[in-house]
This record gives sequence, structure tokens and C-alpha cells, in this order.
Amino acid sequence: MGPNPTATSAFEGALQAACARLGYSGAVYRLLASATREIRIEIPILLDNDELAVFTGYRVQHQNALGPYKGGLRYHPSVDIGEVRELASLMTLKTSLMNLPLGGGKGGIECNPRELSLHELERLTRKFVQLMGHNIGPETDIMAPDVGTNAQVMGWIYGEYGAINGPHFGVVTGKPLTLGGSPGRDKATGYGVALTLAAYADFHGINLQGARIAVQGFGNVGHHAALCLRDLGLKIVAVSDSHSTIYCPDGIDLDAVVTQKRNHSRFAFLPGHELLEADAVLGLPCDYLVPAALGGALHKDNVSKVQASVVVEAANAPCTLEAEADLNARGIIIIPDILANAGGVVVSYFEWVQNLQSMRWSGAKVDNELETIQRHAAMKVFEEARSRAITLRDASYDIAVRRVKEAIDAAGF
Ligand code: NAD
Repeated sequence: MGPNPTATSAFEGALQAACARLGYSGAVYRLLASATREIRIEIPILLDNDELAVFTGYRVQHQNALGPYKGGLRYHPSVDIGEVRELASLMTLKTSLMNLPLGGGKGGIECNPRELSLHELERLTRKFVQLMGHNIGPETDIMAPDVGTNAQVMGWIYGEYGAINGPHFGVVTGKPLTLGGSPGRDKATGYGVALTLAAYADFHGINLQGARIAVQGFGNVGHHAALCLRDLGLKIVAVSDSHSTIYCPDGIDLDAVVTQKRNHSRFAFLPGHELLEADAVLGLPCDYLVPAALGGALHKDNVSKVQASVVVEAANAPCTLEAEADLNARGIIIIPDILANAGGVVVSYFEWVQNLQSMRWSGAKVDNELETIQRHAAMKVFEEARSRAITLRDASYDIAVRRVKEAIDAAGF
């Protein structure tokens, strides 16, 4: 397959290279690079002051060769079709890499959830579900939380879908426990990040005890990742949010930071700690850097500051094409997003399975099953990378793309 000039993002570049390595035609690349369906919706709601406001929402259904479309719903001011498109494609590869019977999709609404009241958010979510019509459903397209959304938002999606079509817990995952949510879903992505790093260390014979780790982003993923990595014996030297970085080379007082964030929604001065600007976290001395905030966090203008020897992509697409090239050139290992942050979709899959079977699993069963799947997928990637002398991203993409292509071929055209 010849070079494709449309590959502008890290995702497209990696997908194009995977298709070339696997000997797939340009038509296959085009099929995997583009979505089956893209939905754009203008969502009118009445604000609390009775004024009309209109928000733009998207749902991109990328591929369902392996199963129903599956992916998060993001509420953020920077949501646009390009971002949603790329995140939907990543989901296809992520579900495939984890060998789940699911496809890939992603949605988002361009809004600032912090500026909307709870009632406004509920009206926005319900109207979005109404306008999506038959494009969502437990066998069609299953949403989940992402940046700016949470279990409450998923509960509203369940409620509105049920009011229109009849109740079905399987229409959405990441729901409150009382609505068929799964134990362990909240921490799943962060726990999966820790399990992946543990598998990496085992595979390479590395001792993680006392290793220094810095985490960018302290939302659902970053905060749980920090707690689970501390449980593994790593030393959390810094965490950050969109306002600041809190840093202590001897290890931060994570419990105090969690309490601070919970009570005041931002970090404040703590004795023995330094309070630095938000982006400082990326350049601090550490062994492992975990970007767990937004995409594009590491780019050509800041990547040279990275001092870690391994970047664990807890966020989706945190490295731009240029950043990835720089890290590779410096021999800094990237554990790619479709592997490192797949714990969330794995436990979402468990939730969906429980819903379809009207079963409830214990938290211990969820954790054990997640560990089995995450570790197996990670070891397969590490072996593939070592045996073929390719990067972990290349190995992940080759495994994932091959599975999707085999399913497309098996179903026929
Ligand atoms: P979240 O909204 O709960 O948290 C995002 C965090 O990032 C917040 O703490 C915010 O303050 C912080 N942030 C934003 N800009 C920042 C900046 N410039 N510097 C430092 N911090 C900044 O979102 P989340 O669910 O934790 O998702 C984080 C990332 O993980 C996203 O890329 C998301 O797509 C990805 N992801 C999430 C899940 C999941 O299960 N929630 C699963 C897979 C991947």
C-alpha cells in the first residue's frame, strides 16, 4: 500500500503503517480510517432562566464488524467532529485489541458542563437521546462515561431511552449500581492502567517498588490510576489538574491531595509540597509519566521536557504525531492508549453482559476478570513487539487491525 497523504494524526499514521505492514490494500485502509456513520445533532433546550440555548452533539459509529458500536460520550467545550471521529476509531481498535465482541463509536456534546446546572444537563442529555432515535440501543450502539460525563448522565440516558423504547439496562454502561451498573466500573480504567504497567514490569523483569510516577489529570482516570499505582508500590511524585501541579520528589501525600480535591475541587498548598503550573507535571523528573487528561497533551513544543523513560497513555491520544516521533527517537517507550486505558471498556463489557443476562457480579469477580483480560492482551502486545522488533503501538495496531479485518472478511461484502 502506498503512502496516503490524508494521514495527519497519530492515529491515521499508525493505522496506515499497520495496513502497510499487514499487506492490506488502500481500500482496506480507507474502510478502517473512516466511520460507517456520522451523526450531527443540534440540541435545543430551555435554560433555567427560560432562555433557549442550542448545543451541537455528535455520535460517530466507526465499525461494528466485531459487535455493536461501543464508546464514551464526552461533554466539553472543545468537542468537534474531528476529535469524535478519531476517538471513535480508537475505540474500534481498543475493543478489538481486548478481544471483546464489540465495535467502536464515540459521541460528544460541545458544552461546558461546569456552566450548566444539574437540571440543564439532564434536559440536554434527554434531548440528545430523543434526537438520536433508533441509532442507540443495547444491540446497536452502547454509550459510556468519558470526560465531563459520569454515572448520573448515564442514568438519564437509560431513563430517556426506556421512556421511548421500554427499559433496557444494556443500552448504556457506567450507570449507577442501582440501575444495573457494575461494581468496579468507576475505577476500571485507572486500575487497567496499573495492571498494564504491572504486566510491562513483569515481562521486562523490572522492579516497580519505589519507582517515581507523575500523573497528568486528576479526574476519573488519573485519580484512580494514582491510587492503584500507589497500591503497586510506586511513588506518586506529582499529580495535576487543569489549574496546577502538586509535586513532592519524595512522594506526594496522595490521601491529602484526594481530600483537598474532593472538598475544594482544586489543589492548594500542602506543607512539604510544591504547587506548580498545570503543564509542569510533564517535565518533572520521574520514571513513568501517565498523561490522563485530554488528547494532544504532549506535542512538539513540550515533548522535549519529558524526562520519564516510559509514557503510559491513560488518556486517549495524548501524544501528537510529532511528540510520538520525538519520544521514539529518544528511546522513550510509549505504552499506547488502546492497551493502557482499555480497562474501562472491558468493565463496560462486563456490565453489558450482566445486563443482558440479568446477573450481578461481585466486585472481586469484576477485578479478577479484568486482570485476566488486561494482562493477557498486554502480554500478547509485548511478545508481538519483541518478536518483530516493532513499537508497542505498532504491535497493538497490528493485532487489533488484523482482528477487525478478519471479521469484515468473514461476514463478506
Ligand atoms: P475527567 O473529566 O474525569 O477528568 C479529566 C481531568 O483532566 C480533570 O481532572 C481535568 O482537570 C484534567 N485536565 C484537563 N486539562 C488539563 C491540563 N491541561 N492539565 C492537567 N489536567 C488537565 O475525564 P476522565 O474520564 O478521567 O478521562 C481522562 C482521559 O481518559 C480522556 O482522554 C478520556 O478520553 C480517557 N479515557 C477515559 C475513560 C473512562 O473510563 N473515563 C476510559 C478510557 C479513556
